[in-house]
Amino acid sequence: MPELPDLLYVLKTLRERLVGREVTAERVREPVVLRFAVRGNLSLVLGRSLHEIFRKSHFLVFRFEGLDLAVNPMLAGRFKLSAPGAKAEGSLAFALEFGDVELRYLDDKSMGKAYLIATDDWKAIAGMQTGGIDVLSPAFTRERFASLLKRRRDQVRVFLLDKKALDSIGNAYADEILFEAGIHPKTWCRSLTHDDAVRLHRAIVHVMSEAVAEVERRGEPIEVKVRDFLKVRLKESCPRCGSKLRTAGVKGMDAYFCPRCQPATRAGLVDWTRTGK
Ligand SMILES: [Zn+2]
Repeated sequence: MPELPDLLYVLKTLRERLVGREVTAERVREPVVLRFAVRGNLSLVLGRSLHEIFRKSHFLVFRFEGLDLAVNPMLAGRFKLSAPGAKAEGSLAFALEFGDVELRYLDDKSMGKAYLIATDDWKAIAGMQTGGIDVLSPAFTRERFASLLKRRRDQVRVFLLDKKALDSIGNAYADEILFEAGIHPKTWCRSLTHDDAVRLHRAIVHVMSEAVAEVERRGEPIEVKVRDFLKVRLKESCPRCGSKLRTAGVKGMDAYFCPRCQPATRAGLVDWTRTGK
């Protein structure tokens, strides 16, 4: 899944290139990713101009007059801008041509979903989870975060990934944030102290806004996922203390963490500092 910084960069780039332009052609290669909550098919957008593109949860929404095309790239989906007529990728699912530029949606696994709906008809979309606080907005205050945290009965990493609470953090940045805050991924939310909560809030804002700036600074084509600046995710050793990084299963997801900088906070967890490795 593209993480928030990737999605914001894609959004900004697509806005600059496509908003105000008219759809001149469409093609569909992988119909399984398209769902229609209106009668018709993708040709409904032909001749319509693109009014706006915005993010709603993990969807990018392309707003045409009377119609919204909402795309959730899921695990493997990517957007790409190409010259019309350039050789199509094997993973091309569908494309919209805007005069001299073509927006392609590529998906190696065909797991992403694109919904064509009447304007604002969000209830037509299964899995449209909203309600989480945008962690990059001014509404995401320390107090608001603390009150969310107080109600949780789960592990801190599960909470960070909950899209109904926070909009939005994925696997890669959950690891970076917990590393930054020095908190073990399997820590129960209820055992976090006030100081932990303050540090965690600060880490979320810091890690996510730095990542947004870094992805933008790189200026790669939008189909490229910029991840090499991450400190712990998929890495071997801790950049702070040099310890070998470990993984822990948290609700079926692999969490990367440093056993020394993020010490265990619960009985029964493997104490990696004592295994001698
Ligand atoms: Zn460390």
